[in-house]
Amino acid sequence: MTQRGERLGERALVLGGSLAGLLAARAVAPHFDEVILVDRAAFDGGPAPRMSAPQTFHLHVLLKGGEQAMEALAPGFLARLEASGSVPLDPGHDFFSASELGVAKPFETPMRVHGQSRWLLEHCLRAQVLEGTGNLTFRTGETVRGLLYNAERGAVEGVRLEGSDGVEDALTGDLVVDASGRGEGAIRWLKALGLEEPPVETVKVSFGYASTVVRLRPDAARSWKAVVVGNLPRDGARGGVLMPIEDGRHICSLGGRAGDYPPDDEAGFLAFAKALPNPELYEALAGAQFEAPISKLIYPANRLRHYEAMAQRPEGFVPVGDALCSFNPTYGQGMSSAALQAKALSEALAGAGSLQDRLEAYLARAAEVVRLPWRQANYNDFLYPTTEGDRSMFTPEEMTYRTQVQMAALRDDRVREWSAAVQHLLMPFERLLEPEVRERVAAALAA
Ligand SMILES: Cc1cc2nc3c(=O)[nH]c(=O)nc-3n(C[C@H](O)[C@H](O)[C@H](O)COP(=O)(O)OP(=O)(O)OC[C@H]3O[C@@H](n4cnc5c(N)ncnc54)[C@H](O)[C@@H]3O)c2cc1C
Repeated sequence: MTQRGERLGERALVLGGSLAGLLAARAVAPHFDEVILVDRAAFDGGPAPRMSAPQTFHLHVLLKGGEQAMEALAPGFLARLEASGSVPLDPGHDFFSASELGVAKPFETPMRVHGQSRWLLEHCLRAQVLEGTGNLTFRTGETVRGLLYNAERGAVEGVRLEGSDGVEDALTGDLVVDASGRGEGAIRWLKALGLEEPPVETVKVSFGYASTVVRLRPDAARSWKAVVVGNLPRDGARGGVLMPIEDGRHICSLGGRAGDYPPDDEAGFLAFAKALPNPELYEALAGAQFEAPISKLIYPANRLRHYEAMAQRPEGFVPVGDALCSFNPTYGQGMSSAALQAKALSEALAGAGSLQDRLEAYLARAAEVVRLPWRQANYNDFLYPTTEGDRSMFTPEEMTYRTQVQMAALRDDRVREWSAAVQHLLMPFERLLEPEVRERVAAALAA
């Protein structure tokens, strides 16, 4: 149940009932008499991918930083996920990883991760949040069309909603949280009111995905549970991942950049996999039964909206999740970033001062929270010549050092652990700049 916190208002509205919205609803619930979560989609109960969030058809990795934040906000979520068929994975022994450098050696790690479909993960989180939040109402099949704005106060005071019958309605709230994803919704709503838009940073990656669900042919000799195969960064680099999900099946996503996209017919999908630098993934797919149509999606650009830097921010309105920052999915950071932002919102609301003081504190904290995944994604994307953006966000020294850490992690267990902690959003990148790590990286490269 929701632990009551200091009361900050009568009603909070959360726009978008996907991961960020569910977690933000948990974050705000202790401080308001009621929370209304609104989504344009009709959720029909069972776990299933949905067109209203088309990324749900694709492979989703949950990083440890995000997993911990989700569990902190919705206690019992992980137990529910595990009870629903999520597959426990040992990253050191259960993954077959290969590139032109060869096949990665197994390693020991206490870390365990979860393998499941995005739709099961979302379903479990939704059930956990709805069951555990007594003052939360989930209104589905309603589309947000705009914001209610009080110009005298300079504050957002609610939203305009359109029901599935086309009828418009107004809903007021002391706080409006935008969790409507990476689209332009909030930007349109602010523009329509003649309000300032947040400054935006964009890095164009043009990453094309194709994904499907397969049932592998049983093979007693198979020693892996998941496969990751990809080219080293270069023009024309391709990659593919096969991960176990619930019900004894696997999800496979293939990807390429700048027009070199995997096709959505089975023969083309297999041919794309065959061109990867190691045959393991292709061979597994070639003997598998395809159990879902192949879904395609082109991810255009990493995008960070700097709400914290707006000169005239409307009061009572904050973003969370992809609405604030969205990254190339290859690095598996989006859900975790959303969860860490929602945790930051929970912590800021538990702070001191007026509601607006606490929202300002949240925006500053959220900007810090997204800095790590934002820079991780852009560093990795700038290794590819086709990426377009402000490369000066990294000095040549930082680009070189980050690459050295990756190389050293292949040779030194301690460096691999540090690097994995950063990759899983458990530790800031700056920790890798400390002398102890630098010395270890240099020694590993010299060995
Ligand atoms: C191909 C692909 C693969 C990915 N893989 C990973 C991965 O491996 N790991 C990872 O962590 N992340 C991954 N991501 C990113 C992840 O999907 C997102 O970061 C995450 O879903 C963000 O959640 P969100 O709640 O902010 O937005 P969304 O999940 O996009 O949800 C937005 C919600 O708002 C609703 N909505 C939108 N507009 C309105 C409106 N006007 N009115 C009412 N409702 C509205 C939508 O119906 C939707 O439910 C991937 C993304 C893609 C595209």
